[in-house]
Amino acid sequence: FSYYTSNGKAHKLCLKCPCLASTRIGLGLLVREYTSLSHLERQYFGFPGEILMRMLKMIILPLIMSSMITGIAALDSEVSGKIGLRAVVYYFTTTIFAVILGIILVVSIKPGVSHKHFGSTGTTPNVTTVDTILDLIRNMFPENLVQACFAQVSPGSPEKRRQSARKENVTKEYKITGSYSEGMNVLGLIVFCAVFGLVIGKMGARGRILLDFFDALNEATMRLVQIIMCYMPVGILFLIAAKIIEVEDWAIFGKMGLYMATVLTGLAIHGLLILPLIYFVFVRKNPFTLMLQMAQALVTALMISSSSATLPVTFRCAEENVGIDKRITRFVLPVGATINMDGTALYEAVATIFIAQLNDYNLDVGHILTISITATLASIGAAGIPNAGLVTMVMVLTAVGLPANDVTLIVAVDWLLDRCRTMINVLGDAYGAAVVEKLSKRELERMDVASDVDMANP
Ligand code: ASP
Repeated sequence: FSYYTSNGKAHKLCLKCPCLASTRIGLGLLVREYTSLSHLERQYFGFPGEILMRMLKMIILPLIMSSMITGIAALDSEVSGKIGLRAVVYYFTTTIFAVILGIILVVSIKPGVSHKHFGSTGTTPNVTTVDTILDLIRNMFPENLVQACFAQVSPGSPEKRRQSARKENVTKEYKITGSYSEGMNVLGLIVFCAVFGLVIGKMGARGRILLDFFDALNEATMRLVQIIMCYMPVGILFLIAAKIIEVEDWAIFGKMGLYMATVLTGLAIHGLLILPLIYFVFVRKNPFTLMLQMAQALVTALMISSSSATLPVTFRCAEENVGIDKRITRFVLPVGATINMDGTALYEAVATIFIAQLNDYNLDVGHILTISITATLASIGAAGIPNAGLVTMVMVLTAVGLPANDVTLIVAVDWLLDRCRTMINVLGDAYGAAVVEKLSKRELERMDVASDVDMANP
């Protein structure tokens, strides 16, 4: 159906999403019920979905580079500093609200108290808080930009690097801490592009050549996104159906029901109440209109569990449907997709206290405070890829003295919770961009007037 935004622009919205979602699940259930596919056949079945994920990941690099560089270069350094500060304050505040909400819910619902029979299984790498924080900082300064874009580097302390080189399974997980996204050091790229954008913005006429290049690259990338989006329904259909076929133990959802309900209630309250309220307080517009305008990005996040891979769709919805100024989205959205993860922070706080309850572990105020801080840091350190939050959670567990390998207790249901928290992560980025735009209105108007004067007196 069509709807109109406050600027009178007409938009079309596809309401087939829920029907398509049930078709996807239905296809998975049908194939699961009536066929017995081997592991290899299941892989073949998921192939169209795999292609979608590859296309979305393929576009992340040109998208982040072109949007960050043009976004920052278009602002002067004072304005970009102010916008950056506002974005960071918004990210921190909402993440802390999410963590507090998660803690209140899990402490009152006590989902772990009734499930003490669960035992620890498996092993996990020992990721310490210091390692994670050092990785985060280390990744901000990639030693080789080409490597940061394409190759996989093993972060961690020198000793950890040596260990990880020996144990491939551990290497894989360290890559997830410190904002590694499928071999790409997104955080490092963002820092580089931000500084590069600032520099070329100050270079005058010679910088203009580079700026025009990245501007054209950005436009071309967005056109590619448009093409990828035509394939999206098919890709997502197979992605979800293949996931449904893969699930081996449905009974686990019953056993972990209360824990899952706690996480989902927290995500729902945060996404439907807290974030909309913050948006309304600052922007004074109907927050649910923005939610509808972002629907395509939210559904994509729900289906593919990755905020980074959803970024192309987030851009399109935020700029074309919501109408947020490109000078804000280009700057705020890539950073948000990497460090602003309210859903992940809430989930990490709930999961840690759930595990403490399973272990009969008494948490005092100091522990709760440690969980709040480390869950916030762990969500910032998690990359925008599937299940990253599960790995950085090891840091929260170790910070309060819980066994790191207890993370395996919640692995079985993580694929489902992951998609829901990713959706809230993406929603938080969209509301964040809208709030920052509103707060930066005066600076943006001043810049418009200045560029009008420049045009009049070339
Ligand atoms: N999958 C999440 C995201 O991409 C990260 C996580 O919580 O695992 O935002």
